[in-house]
Amino acid sequence: MIVVMKVGSPETEINRISQEFSDWGLTPEKIVGKHKVVIGLVGETASLDPLQIQEISPWIETVLRVEQPFKRASLEFHHGEYSDVVVPTPAGVVTFGKNHPVVLVAGPCSVENEEMIIETARRVKAAGAKFLRGGAYKPRTSPYAFQGHGESALGLLAAAREATGLGIITEVMDTADLEKIAEVADVVQVGARNMQNFSLLKKVGAQPKPVLLKRGMSATISEWLMAAEYILAAGNPNVILCERGIRTFDREYARNTLDLAVLPVLRHLTHLPIMIDPSHGTGKAEYVPTMAMASVAAGCDSLMIEVHPNPAKALSDGPQSLTPAAFDELVPQLAVIGRAVKRWWDVPVLTH
Ligand code: PEP
Ligand code: MN
Repeated sequence: MIVVMKVGSPETEINRISQEFSDWGLTPEKIVGKHKVVIGLVGETASLDPLQIQEISPWIETVLRVEQPFKRASLEFHHGEYSDVVVPTPAGVVTFGKNHPVVLVAGPCSVENEEMIIETARRVKAAGAKFLRGGAYKPRTSPYAFQGHGESALGLLAAAREATGLGIITEVMDTADLEKIAEVADVVQVGARNMQNFSLLKKVGAQPKPVLLKRGMSATISEWLMAAEYILAAGNPNVILCERGIRTFDREYARNTLDLAVLPVLRHLTHLPIMIDPSHGTGKAEYVPTMAMASVAAGCDSLMIEVHPNPAKALSDGPQSLTPAAFDELVPQLAVIGRAVKRWWDVPVLTH
C-alpha cells in the first residue's frame, strides 16, 4: 500500500503518520520524490481500508494499493519515479538510471592474470567503459572447469582499478566471500545461477555496495523482481537488474535467448535501472554487436560486454568475448544510436 502525501506536507506530520503505521505493526518507508513524499507500507495490509487510512491526516492526498507481489521494487511504490543508482568510482561518479547516459561495463569473463586484466582495463576504458567486469569466483557448470583465481584475482582487480580509475564489478557466489569482495568491488554481482539464493540476497542486501542482480536463466520476470525485493527489503536500495538471456527450446545457434522485451515490460513494473548483457545473452561474439545496438535502441540503462585480449585462449567464455579492437569498433556504433535516443556520453578519442 502507498500513502501519497500532499505537496508541502510538514515533516513532523510525515513522521507522526509513519510512527502510527509502525505502531500498527507495518513497516513504513519514506520515499522522497521530486514533487511529493510517499510513504510505502510493507506488511499485512490486505485487511486495511484505504479510506480509513486517509482519515488519519488531512495531509494525506491518496492511499493506493500496490497490486504486485513485489512492493519496494515496484514502480507504483516509487510513485512512478525511476530511481538512480549512483556509484562513486576513482574516475568520478557514475549514475545508472533511465534519465542518464548508457553506462558501459566491459571486461573478461574471468580475471586470468595481471597483464591481461590491466591491458583489458586500459583498452575498455580508452574506448569509453566506466566499469571493468571480471570474475574472481566463477560459477561453472563443471567442477573440473576453471573456477576463478579467487582472492588473488580480487587483488588484480584492485590493481586494475588503481591503474585506470575504472569502477569494478565482480561476482559473489558465497556469503563467506562477500566482505572481501565488497572491499574491492564498486558493484557486487549476483549471477544468474544465484538469483534465488535467498540467503545470499539477504546478505548483499545488508551491506552498502550496490548490487547487480542477473536474471536467472529460467526465471520469470516476477521471480526476478521478487529476488530484487529481497535485497531491497534487507535495506539496500541500490539494485541494478541485468538481463543475460534465458533458456528456451532453441539453443541450436545461440547460447541463450536474449529477452529484450524486458526493457518495455520492466519500465512498467519497476523503478530499478536495467542493464543488458548481450555476451551471455547470445554466447557468440559475432552476435554481440547487433544485440548491443538493439539494447541501446530499446532504452537500456547499461550494457555489460565481455572483452578479452585473446578470446581463443580465454579460460572461460572465449567464444562470446570481443577483442579490444572489436570493442573499439562497436562503441562508436553504439554512440550513434545512443545519441539518437539521447542517452550517450561523449566518447573519448582513442589514444592507442
Ligand atoms: C558472468 O557474468 O560471467 C556470468 C557467469 O554470468 P551469468 O551469471 O549471467 O551466467
Ligand atoms: Mn562469462
